[in-house]
Amino acid sequence: MTAPASQLASPEDPALRSWVESANDPAGDFPIQNLPYGVVDDGPAVRIGDRVLALRDVLDAGLFVKKLSSDTDFLIALDVGWLNGIAELDPSAQTMLRQNIAALLAHGSASKARVERMLRPAADCETAVPFLVGDYTDFYASLHHATNVGSMFRPTNPLLPNWKHVPIGYHGRASSIVASGTPVVRPKGQTVASDEGPPSFGPSKLMDYELEVGFFVGRSNPLGESVPVAEAWSRIFGFVLVNDWSARDVQKWEYQPLGPFLAKNFATTVSPWVVVREALEPFRVPGPPRSADDPKVLAYLDDPAGSNLDITLEVHIASAAMREKGMPPTLVSRGGFRDMFWTPAQMLAHHASNGCNMEVGDLLASGTVSGPTKESRGCLLERTWRGTEPIALGDGTERKFLQDGDEVVIRGFCEAPGRPRIGFGECRGVILPAKA
Ligand code: CA
Repeated sequence: MTAPASQLASPEDPALRSWVESANDPAGDFPIQNLPYGVVDDGPAVRIGDRVLALRDVLDAGLFVKKLSSDTDFLIALDVGWLNGIAELDPSAQTMLRQNIAALLAHGSASKARVERMLRPAADCETAVPFLVGDYTDFYASLHHATNVGSMFRPTNPLLPNWKHVPIGYHGRASSIVASGTPVVRPKGQTVASDEGPPSFGPSKLMDYELEVGFFVGRSNPLGESVPVAEAWSRIFGFVLVNDWSARDVQKWEYQPLGPFLAKNFATTVSPWVVVREALEPFRVPGPPRSADDPKVLAYLDDPAGSNLDITLEVHIASAAMREKGMPPTLVSRGGFRDMFWTPAQMLAHHASNGCNMEVGDLLASGTVSGPTKESRGCLLERTWRGTEPIALGDGTERKFLQDGDEVVIRGFCEAPGRPRIGFGECRGVILPAKA
């Protein structure tokens, strides 16, 4: 379909096509229906196919086909540097911005020649953590993950009595959220040879990844006020892939009685492109049905509209030797986000249910996404069953946990008949040796 010049275009139209040829690749992540936002060279940008468009360039050239609610507001929003400014724009201005961008990039755009000169190859762009994140919370929303891990740490009592009543989470650390591609230094910490100790201090020997999906809050609630679960979806700005790196040996010794601390807060990697809620709407699904013997969900968490997403998720690992030889990374896990027991709307509503003020740019992550099969387990702790079932990499070596030089690559995408695939790109990180 062609967008007539000087009119907005709806990226929600599955038939819309872009003049950026790489955006029309059926196996690509970034068609014109996606248009995720990121931060490139200190400024908000949008991704289309294998190209990046800086929004400040478009504004400066006066190319928006219809004015936003106020160009001054928009200029201020862009000058924030992170996406917080865009998220704080009035919702109608956000829609207008998205439709403006779609119009510029759609077939038939009158501005094609000028916009084409502004596009930069994504491979040449340095991306950043897309939001200024004030607070970060990590949930534990996968029933399969909670049951698997629980059965390792508490064989007789895997799922604690609260789990199906309350979305469990912990406050993570915002300062150590890093952009995809940032190397992760192996952490040091206290570990024990036997459950009772005594501990010794040194580099973690059981480094792990956690495959997760995260979302950024797009609208705040004042301290003392809650967020109704029915409104929670509309307050989410967009979604990213998250790797919640975890030092299992540190975690095992420190986690009781207050939960994760130094085993988790040395680094959390996020993917660079925030896929907005609107682009994911066609892939929205209800949470899995509760079993007959599951407790009924409390009314403040009842999410009948459903806010799970049908995202296919993959974890790939490449050793340093594999990368040197130019070998592709080995697929070690493939699962789905749609089976998460607690949905994003339930996570947000629960987080604010006590009057906790959620702020624009806060990051909420799902917890490890694990499915019912071995192949769909989202961390090495589960995938290798605590190291007892090592996995093979493409270079012939085996892994129980991550070694120095290993690169973990998380990918995610949504597919449905008659619609362009909506992808998240990649969330990457290489493990570096512990510091002396
Ligand atoms: Ca986690």
